This record gives sequence, C-alpha cells and structure tokens, in this order.
Amino acid sequence: MSRHQYDLVQCMKQMGAQVGKVCGNCEGRCPICDSYVKPTVEVRICQECSQGHLRDRCILCGHRFTEEDSGVEAFYCLECVRLEKHREGCPRILNMGSSKSSMIMDKKKVGPGLERLTG
Ligand SMILES: [Zn+2]
Ligand SMILES: [Zn+2]
Ligand SMILES: [Zn+2]
Repeated sequence: MSRHQYDLVQCMKQMGAQVGKVCGNCEGRCPICDSYVKPTVEVRICQECSQGHLRDRCILCGHRFTEEDSGVEAFYCLECVRLEKHREGCPRILNMGSSKSSMIMDKKKVGPGLERLTG
C-alpha cells in the first residue's frame, strides 16, 4: 500500500529500458513507499518519461539536474520488490508541484514561463 497515493499520481505506463534517476535529495528513496531502507532493484521508467525535458529531472520531485547534482539511479526498496510493486509500471510522479511547489524552486534562467502553475 502506498501511503502517498491520496495525493500523488504516478505514471504507471509500461516500463522501458531506461533507468529512472533521482536528485540528491531523493537519493535512496523508494518511489513507491518513500522508504530509505534497503534499496534493492533499479528503477526503470517508461519511454515517455525518459525523453525530452523529463530526462533531466528527478522522477520523484521533478528537480532539475545540474552539474553538481546530475542525478543518481533510483531504487525500489526490498519490501516493494517482495510485493512485486516494481513490476507495476513507471513510477514517475506526475503531479509533482501541485502540493509541493514551494519546495521546488525551479531557477529557470532562459525560456518563457510555460510551466507557471495555476492555483
Ligand atoms: Zn518501497
Ligand atoms: Zn512514465
Ligand atoms: Zn528529487
């Protein structure tokens, strides 16, 4: 049972060969249950989530990777692997920013503000 299901929506599309990456903040965190205990199996994400601008972002919080923090491989914890949660689909969180936008300061220097949040 994921305890953040009430708020967060995950992609859950069929996983491809791409490894999911997380930022330094989310390193070691299981994308399903948020546990930091016993990271066991590499996270795979779907085709869509591994392309374009999504490729350079943390799959859990959406943080954009930088030179200092270029992302590390994400892992499912042992418990979720036992429950076969890691086979359910791409674990990328889709609605990040809606509830935690204040935590994610996206210091964009170029480009138009297309990602401005409403509400
Ligand atoms: Zn887990
Ligand atoms: Zn996906
Ligand atoms: Zn992150």
